[in-house]
Amino acid sequence: MAGRAVQAGAAGADKTIMASTLGLVSAGCVLGAVAVVGHWSTRRRDAIGRPRAFPVWSITLLAVLALAAAVPGAQRRAHEHRLARVAGNLVGHQVAVHCQTTTGAMVDSGAELGYVRFDADGDPEPATTLKRDPCRDLKHYVKGGKAQPSLNEVVAVHVLTHEAMHLRGETNEAWAECEAVQRDALTASLLGASPEQAMALARRYWTAVYPLMPDEYRTTECGPGARLDERLTSAPWAAG
Ligand SMILES: [Zn+2]
Repeated sequence: MAGRAVQAGAAGADKTIMASTLGLVSAGCVLGAVAVVGHWSTRRRDAIGRPRAFPVWSITLLAVLALAAAVPGAQRRAHEHRLARVAGNLVGHQVAVHCQTTTGAMVDSGAELGYVRFDADGDPEPATTLKRDPCRDLKHYVKGGKAQPSLNEVVAVHVLTHEAMHLRGETNEAWAECEAVQRDALTASLLGASPEQAMALARRYWTAVYPLMPDEYRTTECGPGARLDERLTSAPWAAG
């Protein structure tokens, strides 16, 4: 886990805005269908005046292709909206969550699992970008990994919590990390986990992942009774 980073900050170009290839294919099919209908509408009779059949098969094929190509993008947006609702609950106001596209991941060399940009005044933009892998792991977690989540899914839930702490304005990595470990159970609950499942996830991150995080993300001030202990019932060291 060494070398893994969950960072805030302005890191490179926002690759999530790159249009997906499938989105372009879908749009191309729609335009193709419009062109086919347009062509037919201007030539509704042949050279000797007989009516020409509507190109139903061409239109049907293009419509099916357009829908098929649009499905992955629609699913990604639905997933992003769900994550945004969870993050917004943690932050206290509406925020956006962007999942890195496959195309974006192919040209991404950064090690961070997510990031929040801060403007020149030091205020966070109301949006975070999560890399493709944690977004995928969050999808698996939501779909049914709550009873026995993989370690990657545990980390992915935490990444969402961690970025939400940056969205609240926290710029210090160790403090954001400590604030996040005390809210991971809340994030898991908002994603559909039972109270027991949520607390188990928070404790697993605290015991199995937090100790291995780079120094920048850890502090001795984080823990039961320590200065950064907010005494939340969702903290992994909370009784019960
Ligand atoms: Zn961070």
